[in-house]
Amino acid sequence: MALSLCDDTLLCNFPKCRTKLCGFAWVTACSHAFCDQHGSGEFSRSPAICPACSSALSGKLDIVRTELSPSEEYKAMVLAGLRPEIVLDISTRALAFWSYQIHQERMYQEYTLSRAEVQVKQLEKMLNQQNQSRELDLGAMRGEISSLKKVMEEYKRKYSEVAERLMERNRQYQKLRGLYDSLRLRNMVVGERDTPATHPHHLLNPGGFRPLPSPRVSPSFLAMGPEGEGCLFTGLETDRPNTFFHIRSPLRE
Ligand SMILES: [Zn+2]
Ligand SMILES: [Zn+2]
Repeated sequence: MALSLCDDTLLCNFPKCRTKLCGFAWVTACSHAFCDQHGSGEFSRSPAICPACSSALSGKLDIVRTELSPSEEYKAMVLAGLRPEIVLDISTRALAFWSYQIHQERMYQEYTLSRAEVQVKQLEKMLNQQNQSRELDLGAMRGEISSLKKVMEEYKRKYSEVAERLMERNRQYQKLRGLYDSLRLRNMVVGERDTPATHPHHLLNPGGFRPLPSPRVSPSFLAMGPEGEGCLFTGLETDRPNTFFHIRSPLRE
């Protein structure tokens, strides 16, 4: 038999089976149909109960195993000799069985569809709620980010102010340091003049010395005090720790 004959067919009514009926099927007086496997299994015991609607099937013709694609010889003979109204009655009942099965299948499909729709709606609702809560979270995070940015800008501004002040203090410190060095040198020169020179070459000019170079460090913690005035010496040299004075030739006096 061609498989295409089985395409437009009924399904087994056994719970969760839904096999396409093909070859032989078990049909019942309660208008249910089962595949060969479930029919032969369920209806071998007695009393027979319909697995689909629990009807008792005790009559002799309540359960029939029928060939779904009967032979030409069978079709030619099965209703032969019967009066037309009986032929039509039999056909009508067979058609009613068929329409009931189709109707049941349609009801089942509609039920499945409505359940799926309910599930889809529930999922949509859940997703919408999740999206809303995520958007709320996102908005809160954005607010937090913008407030943190404001705080950061404030800190940046304060930092640049402090850095400016620090540079100013360092400038003041360098001036004071230069002033201090010059004063110290001047004092030493005066002290050495008052005592007799031990070395003849130490003829010193009070105005001719060079100040000790200031260390090029940034002791920001030392930066303090009022602004020193009159920075006498600029152009500081590198450290020469043992050379306090620059000795000038007396001839150049
Ligand atoms: Zn089945
Ligand atoms: Zn039944």
